[in-house]
Amino acid sequence: MYKVIIEKECGCVRRANMSAESSFNDKDDALIEAGEMARKMNDEFCGKHQFAVRQEGEDFLITMQMRG
Ligand SMILES: [Zn+2]
Repeated sequence: MYKVIIEKECGCVRRANMSAESSFNDKDDALIEAGEMARKMNDEFCGKHQFAVRQEGEDFLITMQMRG
């Protein structure tokens, strides 16, 4: 089981009603979904935060950083 986890939720994540964690049987599916989510979050959210994907074991974390 591979998990996609939103590591830190800013207000935008809560407003978008995204679930902070989802599970996939297939590693590629998880990776693709994580990439899609990060892209969407970078495109549609407030722009104050920057999201990226980091793999940790069998999990893919969507990390958040303040945009400098
Ligand atoms: Zn935000």
